[in-house]
Amino acid sequence: MIRFAVLQLSGCAGCEVSLLNAGGWLEEHRLVYMPLVISAYDVPVVDLLLVSGGVRTDEDSYNLRRAARRAGQVVAVGTCAMSGGVASLGDRDEVRDLFLAEEGRRHLPRLLPRCHPIDAVAAVDLYLPGCPPTPELFMAVLSGPAQFKASKIVCQECGRRKLKDMRPKRLIGFQRGEVLPDICLVNQGYLCLGTSVRGGCRAPCPRAGHPCVGCRGPSDALISKDAGAWLRKIRRVFKGMTDIPEDELNQALVSPHLALFLFQFSDYAGRERPSRPKEKVL
Ligand code: SF4
Ligand code: SF4
Ligand code: SF4
Repeated sequence: MIRFAVLQLSGCAGCEVSLLNAGGWLEEHRLVYMPLVISAYDVPVVDLLLVSGGVRTDEDSYNLRRAARRAGQVVAVGTCAMSGGVASLGDRDEVRDLFLAEEGRRHLPRLLPRCHPIDAVAAVDLYLPGCPPTPELFMAVLSGPAQFKASKIVCQECGRRKLKDMRPKRLIGFQRGEVLPDICLVNQGYLCLGTSVRGGCRAPCPRAGHPCVGCRGPSDALISKDAGAWLRKIRRVFKGMTDIPEDELNQALVSPHLALFLFQFSDYAGRERPSRPKEKVL
């Protein structure tokens, strides 16, 4: 039986909801701290600490350092804790201007100048990307990641067929248009990123006709490379499968819903970001 705790930093609680949806751990493991559902003053000594959200405030930083000292292992859960996501939206100039312009704001807890991934503050033993990670992925962390079998990329879990002779000339807007069943969304002109995104989620989005926006982050082949390598790979895929003008594709790649995930590396790539070997990423 694993004694585990969930520390929530600056995020949206979606990761916690996904963990609760997993449910299967209830009989097998013991959750001892999770402010969303368990009243406890402080994080006790635990075997495993799951940390969601980014380090956005001085309180986040303090709580994380303190809890990590009491944990046998630390798991970074979700896009915010690893590399950006909604937690890093506040780093944008327009958001900062709005926040700082308000008179009389008390600034408690104090915002840090920018958001940080949790491994800039504490050592991390395992990374669990996703926004949020699926319940199955949470179960894999708790039951033993070594047993978990995942495909290298989302396409391998999607089941849609890629066609050579169906080459769209324009991008179809996000969540617009009729989606044909069984045929790859790229063939239909949707900006689906499954060719370069790590598997393990079982492709719920493209299976339902919704392009993959890359919340699981880059596949093992790209994980140690910079964001530019990921973008070049996406462009190559679209050049090979479509006749969509490159300008149009580039314009779409900087759209806000994709920027949450695609630019996670530019948000966090920098001096403080430790390397994340693929062996540590589930
Ligand atoms: S990773 Fe996604 S679900 Fe989890 S806290 Fe961040 S925004 Fe919410
Ligand atoms: S690109 Fe998207 S729709 Fe096409 S096979 Fe891959 S995941 Fe499925
Ligand atoms: S299909 Fe893509 S966007 Fe959907 S959960 Fe998987 S990685 Fe995330």
